[in-house]
This record gives sequence, structure tokens and C-alpha cells, in this order.
Amino acid sequence: MPVTPNEIQPVTIRYARETDVAGAKDLADRHRVELGFVRTSVLHEAQQKKWLLVAVRDEQIIGFANFRIRQDKNATLYDIVIDEPYRKQKIGKRLVQRLTWLVNIAGGEHIRLKCPQSLPANAFYKKLQFTRTDTEIGKKRPLNVWHYFLKPLPRRFEFHENNGGFLHSPPEHSPHFFASATIAPGEIRKIYELWHTHAHDFEWPRGTPNPFQRLLISPVLASPSTLAFVRELKRSGETEEVMFDSGGFFVQKGDITYNELYSKLREIYHIEDWADIYILPDNPPLSKDSMSDAEDKIRQTVDGIVSFAYQLPVEIRKNVMPVIHAKQAAHLEYCLQNYEPLMADSHRIGFGSFPTMGATNSINRVNADVLRLLDDLVPRLNGSRLHSFGISTPPAVFCLAKVGVETFDSNGWMRSGGYGKIFFPFTFGRMVDCKARGYVRVHSDELEPIKLDTGHRCPFCESFNDISDGSGRWHRIMHNLTVMTELEVYHRKPQWEILKEHSGNYYRMLKAASVPVFGEK
Ligand SMILES: [Zn+2]
Repeated sequence: MPVTPNEIQPVTIRYARETDVAGAKDLADRHRVELGFVRTSVLHEAQQKKWLLVAVRDEQIIGFANFRIRQDKNATLYDIVIDEPYRKQKIGKRLVQRLTWLVNIAGGEHIRLKCPQSLPANAFYKKLQFTRTDTEIGKKRPLNVWHYFLKPLPRRFEFHENNGGFLHSPPEHSPHFFASATIAPGEIRKIYELWHTHAHDFEWPRGTPNPFQRLLISPVLASPSTLAFVRELKRSGETEEVMFDSGGFFVQKGDITYNELYSKLREIYHIEDWADIYILPDNPPLSKDSMSDAEDKIRQTVDGIVSFAYQLPVEIRKNVMPVIHAKQAAHLEYCLQNYEPLMADSHRIGFGSFPTMGATNSINRVNADVLRLLDDLVPRLNGSRLHSFGISTPPAVFCLAKVGVETFDSNGWMRSGGYGKIFFPFTFGRMVDCKARGYVRVHSDELEPIKLDTGHRCPFCESFNDISDGSGRWHRIMHNLTVMTELEVYHRKPQWEILKEHSGNYYRMLKAASVPVFGEK
């Protein structure tokens, strides 16, 4: 019987604050048999040095891990304890996961601890996948030496020393872009033609990008002709990865019901088996939904995804992407618990719960709450890659990259281009259509300075006339597509300075959300 979101009390794992030391000390005193005597001064020092993680529920300390990151970047874990009523809820595992994450970021390779042989805690360490490496004769009793060996670090989290004290992920990293190809057959052909007509004779500042390298397409909603076009790009090798979209976004917009989507998708995933990634069907909660409506949708999504996945052929199940929807931490728990077996096979997970806006709920936004939620999520994925749905504004993509999002998809480049908006690396959309009112716009004399400042050049924005007004629509679309594609190879440093200067509200949002693991403090 799966736990429903209502029954899970959210537990937050975070660095201890000064006011948490008393609670940790109290917890330690109640577990003196296991921990021995833990001095307040030791906890104080650990708190100051960010060597004390706490598990907090309702502002109460229900667990802690007291450790030390040594000179050699590895960690020694001195004490870890979870209060009795909260055991067997994987809170200890979360503390160790968070510690693993910190050691990873620091560039270390293992966590070491010693535990008296006679204590039941030895079984706990074994369960957390520590390996017993040695036995020592302790002062009073024999000690087991345990090691936790970290998995090699994924590329995205390589430690970057010179990060200006801002965030931990390398400044040149931005996530991989999947261009949405769920568009009319005429449109995808036009984009393909325009690209190949203009891209090859241009002197690219950072090598010729390939906007067709990764494509996202919904086999349920795309026309057969568009689907065939994408399949041909994949066969020819021009497209390296194809992600099948479940079409949850179209449920969100109200174009199709969840049940219709579910049964159509089941048919199609059995027939079209040439994708690299298969997104599982979801029913996204909307910002305007009440909490109970949202939780109904979350439950429906999770139950639906788990049963859907086990009806798929094994080969396809290895490449599925379950989708997390969460309005709060408890929902993350619920999704993670249920998706764990699927993620063990596919190593992928998608996140789609961004605040929605617009008349048709078609616009997803990033805010500080979502960034905090993702920051809590990423260390718990055991290396599974996190994808974000439907966020396409470059500065928002930058923020997502900083909390560990690895891939993203977007059709915003096309939609915004149609409206008259253009993007630059890490700037939000600006209007170039002179007739539109009430938007931040780029004037003719501002185009060259902003290109210089952001380091962007492409064959589609060479002159202001090309991209402005009604006739510039396709140039804007192609320019925007180019900008999205180059986000991942964008090396002009430091990126956050561009963010600060050109998209100040995103910069402030990032600061507001920078939880201690990533923060400057
Ligand atoms: Zn351009």
C-alpha cells in the first residue's frame, strides 16, 4: 500500500544553524549508549564549520550527522543518530546521501567511520552500503572500521575551485537542450532548410552548433509526417538523441485528457520503439489547483506511471523517464519512494512541477521555492539525471543548472520568436517587434552592444532589420533556437555577471534560494 502524500511528514535535511545545537545535544544525550558522550563544544564547532547536518521535522531536530571533511577531501563521520520514532523512514539514508554529496563536491572519494563492534548500528551502516574494511582494538571495546566509497562523479558536478564563491557547479556548465519538434511538418522542414542554408558559411565564434542534436517529440500529438521526419534525422545521425514526450504538457493545457493520453501512449510506445528516452504519462497539477486537487493528480500520476512502466517491454523500460510532480517536500518523498525501482534501471527522472501561468496554463516559471525543492531533490537521486520540462528562458535555465538539472526541453524559442521576442545567452526575452507595447525591448542601436556583451553571434541576427517586425519572424525563431543550442557550450565568464547585469531578477531569485549547500555564506 503506497503512502499517500498526506501521510508523509516532510523532513528537511540541512546544515545545522546555531539554534539547532541545543536540540542536537539533547538528542545525543538521549542516545548516550550508542554515541558515547558528545560534548556541546564539539557540536558547536561542527556547526560553525558546516560539519553538522540535521534532519528537521516541524522545527524539531529528529536526527543529525556530525562529521569532518579532512584535508584530503574525504570525510570522517563521527556520529549519526535518528530519534527512535523516526527510524525506518530512510532519514539516515538521506543524511548520508547529503554527506556523500558534500564529499563529492569537495572532490573526496570516501566516508570513513568507526563503530564499536557490539552496537546494533553496524547493521545500519551495512544497509547504507558501507563496507567493513578493518577492525581496531579500541580503548574500551573493539571497533569496526567502515568505509563508504563514492561513485565516480558525473561530469556535471565536477568541483570548480574558482567559482567566485558563488555556486558549486562549474561556471561553464549549462544543461543539454532538447529542441521540441512537436510542431507542424511544414515548420520543421522550414527550420531544417533555413538552418542548412545559413549555418555552413558562417564563422561561428565557438564552432558550428547543431540544433537538431537532441529532439523532443510527442508521438501522440505530433503529425505522422513530423514524426517520420524526426525518425529520419535520427537514422541519418544528425540527431543523436530522441526523447519521446508523453504529452503531459497538452494535458496541462487542456487539449487532451489524462486517460486518453495514457491509453494512446501505451499503444504508441509498443509500436514506435526507436527513441532513446521515453517519458511516462503524467497529469500535471496547475498553480490554480487546490492542494487536494493537486494531490489527486500527483497520486494519479505516480500510480499511473508505475503501472504503465511495468506493461512496457523490458528494453523500453530501461529507457523510461518517470515524472515528479511536487508542490512541497512531502510530494517529492512520495514520488521518489515509488519511482526508486524504475530509476534503478533507467537513471533518469523528470521534474515538471513549475508554477504555471497564462490563460491556458501553458507557461511554466521558475521561482525560489522551486529552486529550493530541486536543491533538496538532486542529492537524493543517486546519480540519476534530472530533466526539467517546459522551462526555456535562458536565465531560468541557468538557475536550474545551478541546482543540478542536467537536461531541459523547450519550445519557447519558437513561440517567443513568433511573438516578436529574442533571447541572448542568460538574458530573458526582449521584444524587437516595434509595434508591441509594454515589454522590455531591444532598440536598433542596442543590438550590437548586447551581442558583444553576451558573446553571441549567429547568421540570423546580423542586422536589426532581419529580426525586427513581422517579416523577421523566422529569423527570430532561428536566432532563438541557436541561442538555446549554444547555452551548453557557452564559455564566456563569469556567467553570473551577465545574469546579474541583464536578468537581475533571476540573479536575486538564485540568491534567495541558495540553500547552504550551494550558497555563498
Ligand atoms: Zn543570433
